[in-house]
Amino acid sequence: MSFQAFRFDPPEFPDAAHELRREVRAFLDENKALMRPMPSGFSPEFSRKVAERGWLGMTWPRQYGGKERTAYERYVMIEEMLAAGAPVGAHWVADRQSGPNLLRYGTEEQKQFFLPKIAAGEMYFAIGMSEPDSGSDLAGTRTRAVKVDGGFRVNGSKLWTSNAHRAHYMILFCRMAEAGQEIDRHAGATQFLVDMKSPGLEIRPVHNLLGEHHFNQIFINDLFVPDNRLLGQVGAGWKQVTGELAFERSGPERFLSTFRLLVELVRAAGPDPEPGVTAAIGRLIAHLAILRRMSMSIAGMLQRGDNPNVEAAVVKDLGTSFEQETSAVARVTIPAEPTLSAMDAYISTLARTTLNSPRFSIQGGTREILRGIIARGLGLR
Ligand SMILES: Cc1cc2nc3c(=O)[nH]c(=O)nc-3n(C[C@H](O)[C@H](O)[C@H](O)COP(=O)(O)OP(=O)(O)OC[C@H]3O[C@@H](n4cnc5c(N)ncnc54)[C@H](O)[C@@H]3O)c2cc1C
Repeated sequence: MSFQAFRFDPPEFPDAAHELRREVRAFLDENKALMRPMPSGFSPEFSRKVAERGWLGMTWPRQYGGKERTAYERYVMIEEMLAAGAPVGAHWVADRQSGPNLLRYGTEEQKQFFLPKIAAGEMYFAIGMSEPDSGSDLAGTRTRAVKVDGGFRVNGSKLWTSNAHRAHYMILFCRMAEAGQEIDRHAGATQFLVDMKSPGLEIRPVHNLLGEHHFNQIFINDLFVPDNRLLGQVGAGWKQVTGELAFERSGPERFLSTFRLLVELVRAAGPDPEPGVTAAIGRLIAHLAILRRMSMSIAGMLQRGDNPNVEAAVVKDLGTSFEQETSAVARVTIPAEPTLSAMDAYISTLARTTLNSPRFSIQGGTREILRGIIARGLGLR
């Protein structure tokens, strides 16, 4: 058995990134009224403002509406947004993974059609991967496409599709009907760019623990996708979708979702906390500092064009455990009855974070799946 170590080189951020941090902080300060206890709010108005500053698609080529800035600068921008609780939900998926996926596999026509609209904050995407019987086991997708005249006919269902009811497009993962599942479970896997207004899509809400509508189930009945909305190659969908998942797992959102709670906890602890409270907060801050360095190191790998698959899985696994630990530690350190409508910011943030806590280690790949990826990356499986 060969054993390979992963590595997290010390991050060296250029001056431009430090300069940008100041600009983003000033922008967030101007938009203080829009900030929330968690950064998943959905605000087209805020997305447009971010786009006006040139901060969507910021690493993409200028010819597609990008700004050709570095992965370090993008890292700094999203770190500040998440730490402030900015409502990034509308543009998030398109900017983080659909755009880069299009940049890698899209046709020239697709790049010209989609990317400038994403960079302008005018087009949002949903992720059409999970299904009622295939979440972790993505290769078990049962949604099927067949080739027809001028395009493809698709039937099946997608579940947990965040913001499907307000996204303009979805990247749909499915299989060609003729692919033999027994021989190669990845054979025939294909991705399509699906207009969410297409006939053949029925989007039904699924409410979360907070009673809010973010998730959906999508029923796909004889959906027609034209040839020019095939993404990449027929049958190459597995490679494409795993690349997309790497984008989904590589960012600081995997440890910063509960940052506002940490800030409120420090505030609630006051200027002269008891030693037990100081120790609990100090431990959380120490974990945060290490996670941040690891995540910044991943930004360096992305900038160099490396594929930080395993490192991203390590940060997501540790980061989501940290997020869950933050609300658990807060509850026992400064006990309070978590109430969403409380006037006290600590109590209402604690309530929102606690109710969101289970999701951190499920979305974008569960803890067990990430540990499998890490074990394989280390040559242990
Ligand atoms: C907030 C949130 C947003 C989401 N948004 C989207 C979205 O926009 N689009 C989308 O496509 N999906 C989305 N998902 C779905 C998410 O990707 C899946 O929930 C996740 O992949 C797990 O799949 P599952 O729910 O089917 O659970 P299962 O795969 O059934 O897993 C159940 C349990 O079994 C464990 N398990 C499964 N397989 C293995 C294995 N091989 N080894 C060890 N343990 C295993 C899992 O770790 C888990 O604990 C979202 C989920 C959440 C929580």
